[in-house]
Amino acid sequence: MSERVVVVGAGTMGAGIAFLAARGGYEVVLIDPDAAAIERARTRIRASAERAGDPSIAARVRSAPTIPSDGSALLAIEAVPERIELKSVVMRAMAAAVRPDGLLATNTSALSVGALATDLPDPSRVLGLHFFNPPEAMKLVEIVHAPSTADAAIEAAYAFVERIGKSAALTADTPGFIVNRVARPYYLQALRALEHDVATVPELDALARSVGFRMGPFELMDFIGLDVNLATSESVYARTDAARLIPSALQRRLVEGGRLGRKSAKGFYDYSNGVPEPLDLRVAAPEATEPLRERVAIVGCGGVADELHELLAPRYAHVARIENEELLDELALDTTIVIDVGDGTTDRVATIAQLDSLLGPETVILADAYASDVSAAAARMRHPERLIGYGVLSSLERQSAIEVVDAESASDDALVLAQELFETLGKGVVLVEDVPGLFLGRVVGSIVNEAVVAVHEGVASAEDVDLAMRLGTNYPIGPIAWGREIGGARIARILQRVAAHDGAAFAPHRSLWVLDVEEEGEAEPLDPFAMRAASPVDEA
Ligand code: NAD
Repeated sequence: MSERVVVVGAGTMGAGIAFLAARGGYEVVLIDPDAAAIERARTRIRASAERAGDPSIAARVRSAPTIPSDGSALLAIEAVPERIELKSVVMRAMAAAVRPDGLLATNTSALSVGALATDLPDPSRVLGLHFFNPPEAMKLVEIVHAPSTADAAIEAAYAFVERIGKSAALTADTPGFIVNRVARPYYLQALRALEHDVATVPELDALARSVGFRMGPFELMDFIGLDVNLATSESVYARTDAARLIPSALQRRLVEGGRLGRKSAKGFYDYSNGVPEPLDLRVAAPEATEPLRERVAIVGCGGVADELHELLAPRYAHVARIENEELLDELALDTTIVIDVGDGTTDRVATIAQLDSLLGPETVILADAYASDVSAAAARMRHPERLIGYGVLSSLERQSAIEVVDAESASDDALVLAQELFETLGKGVVLVEDVPGLFLGRVVGSIVNEAVVAVHEGVASAEDVDLAMRLGTNYPIGPIAWGREIGGARIARILQRVAAHDGAAFAPHRSLWVLDVEEEGEAEPLDPFAMRAASPVDEA
């Protein structure tokens, strides 16, 4: 028997899905009452088939204005407009198009798959296959299981996704599934940072790119369309009612003012003369010449302290390392720069005050502005002008630019010295306002927190969350893996500071700390989902 797949709706998503199924060797029937939509889809499928070097792909796609009722397809998937009544009617018709064991799938982004399933004769064969735009290029498909979805249906969906050359992440039927939910803080916290005047839009975008995001949040919102992005935020928020995911009033004002991004030529950027050149913060580390004569001391322990030591040692004639602050007395009094790294999780205000009293006024002190309130520290100092806050999330290697706090109390000389130090290491610098979490701490910390909450709530396994975010949104690293790298306690510390400033809704989730315990191999994995006996994929 032929292996037939019915795709309903020949628009942006349907045309791409039909191509993928045909490329996977299925015989495809593409349904759309709009003949022009079919024609556009056919042109697109032919072009994709040409690019794939196999015109026979296009020949495997037939089209029709209505859904067949011959009960012969293995799978029917709908990609019609996002209206529940329309999808309900379409899925009922699809039930007659598939074999008795055939799958009924919806490509919905925001509706409940379970709600769509209840109307159908056999809800156990109904699931979500959530593709990303453009389906031809995006590697991820989220398989959405409703409470009624049978294990066999999920297994069959995995087989289909694999055969069309994509990777699957399994998600519960919850608002935004994995990707559209865990990505929310990328936009929402970036918008909050902008409202707090942390830095300019091009600077914030450049900072995001400096840690590996393909596009900064603002250029990405302009690309997606501010209205579309806002609608997703509103829909996730409406269904979760989680205060930390409250949509942005600033974004709503921009949408109401017609600033929708690229499509209206104005969003966060102006596109009337084309797409503006993104701000590039990269600097080349200067050739190592004579070691610089400044004396540098690194205070603290952990990865960033080790990294700084390794990077600075060849560049500076004198680099001291003080791991334990009880040994601060050993600091040479003519030290030019002290970099206080701490342990990344504890407040350093007292240590900074101690350094201030020990060292001559010429010494510049750099302090971790994610863990500590550098403005509060400055207020307690004899020489606040020498204190500069900086932010390295988890490692210098992972970021090509550093946020440096441009505090009112800081002297220009101290700022220049800090800037030069990072530039010597080949790192760009963005001067930012001292707002808790600065930009990267706030944004990345909130993404990791959302990922942890999603795993905790059983939306998906930690592995699938990471896979989904890497493939569905091109994150440089999965948020759970990133969280382990930064450290749960460090993220919790950053978010506690954010919450003290922005409101309790933004507080860290208690499961964040589990990331660290796991690292030490002392606890069960952060994976209530995988631990459930009923994980169908594990059984397969
Ligand atoms: P689209 O508007 O490009 O295409 C929808 C198509 O469905 C149109 O060609 C329309 O003629 C057709 N249609 C309408 N009624 C129909 C019916 N009764 N039977 C058959 N065809 C019918 O929409 P899209 O962007 O492809 O989105 C489709 C679905 O995919 C939505 O549920 C959307 O939420 C979801 N989705 C979209 C994206 C995206 O980025 N566009 C990404 C993921 C998921």
